[in-house]
This record gives sequence, C-alpha cells and structure tokens, in this order.
Amino acid sequence: METQTTSRRTKQELIEEIHQLKKEKDAVILAHYYMTPDLQLTVDKGGFTDFIGDSLGLSVEATKIKAKNVIFCGVKFMAETAKILNPEKHILLPDMGAGCSLASSITAEDIKELRKKHPGVPIIAYVNTYAETKAEVDICCTSRNALAIAKSFEEPELIFVPDVYMGQNLQQNIEAQTGKKLILWHGSCEVHEQFTGKNMKAMQAMNPDAEMLMHWEVPKETINTSFENSDGVLGSTNDILRYVGESKAQKFILASECDLGATLKGMYPDREFITPCFKCPYMKTITLENTLAALKSIETDKVSHYEITLPEDVISRAYMPIKRMLQFT
Ligand code: SF4
Repeated sequence: METQTTSRRTKQELIEEIHQLKKEKDAVILAHYYMTPDLQLTVDKGGFTDFIGDSLGLSVEATKIKAKNVIFCGVKFMAETAKILNPEKHILLPDMGAGCSLASSITAEDIKELRKKHPGVPIIAYVNTYAETKAEVDICCTSRNALAIAKSFEEPELIFVPDVYMGQNLQQNIEAQTGKKLILWHGSCEVHEQFTGKNMKAMQAMNPDAEMLMHWEVPKETINTSFENSDGVLGSTNDILRYVGESKAQKFILASECDLGATLKGMYPDREFITPCFKCPYMKTITLENTLAALKSIETDKVSHYEITLPEDVISRAYMPIKRMLQFT
C-alpha cells in the first residue's frame, strides 16, 4: 500500500513538474491516443498534454503550433511529420527508439522499385512511414481519409503501402464502390495483426451484448468473422470514438491498441470496454520520465538526443504528399 501511494504521488509530482516546465520552456505537448493514460491527460483534466489525437488530428494540429518547441509523445514517424510541417521548430521525441513495425517495413528504395515496376501508377502511402519514404510517394493518407483519397484518383490502378491488412480492407471498399484495383505492399502493424477470429469469437461468446470496435489495420479474416454475429464499426480511431457516442450499446469489444480503451473510458465513463489489451511496444517507450527529460534538455547541449532532424531536401519533398493529404481532413 505504501509503495502504491508513493508511486502515485511521484507520478503526480512528475505531471506537475512537466506542466510547469512546459511554460518556462515555451513548449507544447502533443500526444497520440496510444499513449499511457497519464500521458493522455490534457491540461483541462489536470494533466500537461495540450492536444491528444490520432495521426491525422496530430498532423493538422502540428500546422497550428505557435510555440518554439514541441514535445511529441508518439512514435518517430509522427514526430517526423510534425517536423516536416514545422521545419523551423524544435520537435523533440522523448525516446528515439519509438519506432513502428509498419514504418520500418518499407524504404525509399522500395518505392523507387515499385515505380519502375508499375510506371505511371500513383502511390499512396499510409502516414505510418518514415520521412524518406514519404518523400518518394504521391500522397499520404491516414485510416481516416484513405478511402476518400483513393477515390479521388482517376487511374484504375493504385499502389497502397505499406499495410497489407489495411490495404486489403481498403481494396474491398474501393473495388465495390469504383472498380479500382490496389497493388499492395506486405507490411503490417504488429499490434493489430494479433487480433484473430479465434480470440474475437471467444470474447464475443463471453459478451454477447457487446458491439465491436475494430480498426482498419486488423486482418480481413478477423473482420469477417467478428462481424458475422455482432454489430459495430470498422474504421479509423476517430470513427471508433464517434461510433461509441452514437451507439445505444453499453458494452464494446475493442480491437485496437489497448490504451485507446483509456481514451474511450475518459470520453464515455458510463460504457464498458473489453479488450485483449495488445500494447504497442514502441508507443510505450514514451514515459513521464523521458518526457520530462526531453523538456529539460531544451536550450542545453543535451537537446540533440531528443531533437528530430531531417535533411532539407527530404523535408521539402515529403511536404507535398503530406500537404495533399491534409486537403482531405
Ligand atoms: S500501433 Fe502499430 S502502427 Fe501504431 S506505432 Fe505501434 S506498430 Fe506502428
């Protein structure tokens, strides 16, 4: 009991210190929905985070930043996107090891090879890619605007990288709506691919009154099995958050990153969310401690450990595909 009280107090002290220091250092803090609950706590709720969102929400927010410094509580490709949108600002990532299995599944060289193999076919890249990869593609997308972006092209064939599962789900929709074909890559999110038809069926059997909340990045077979007997939503993080508000159900099975459950519980405290709780190991490298350390490093010689730096030509070439994506918000 003593240990729990002490660690709770320490956490609160850290939150207060970060909140205070943020003002002194002219910094804002952006956090993704997959952060742990203490990092998701916004200023109005007693935390220090200025904005919490999904990839698209964070990209849009990054275009409005006034402060000189940004602490990005998310993974590296997201912090890079913030840097591309704000090259003159200091974008700090509390742990440079915050990677992503999707982003590392494809490189700029792979995109060049795809172009050679499929000349003239437009390339859409999920925003979960590194800056060098983005610099080679025609447009980026997030799970929120992927369908609208794919539909906006006149070409009958498109390349979608790197998430094969999201690509298959997108393909099903786009083919039914427009007859377009997608050429896919073979990347996957190591969190969302853990949701199988078997584990979803077992959860549904125990919770027959629950509706499904499922992300686009989950394998197609799991989706087909899960929606055989349950209602719910298949979509982006934002679609999931909105769906719960509109649904009459009391109970939901969440098939997305575990800590999205904390976001949902904060928004809808009277509802119940059940999840097998698969956590993203990359997102969880960001902690209160390294967020504080990144803040403290501002205007010291330690800042380089945390600062996102990208070659100028990569920034300017990656900017266009992101800018085009932002027209679909
Ligand atoms: S949840 Fe998946 S897509 Fe998101 S950062 Fe983790 S590995 Fe990448």
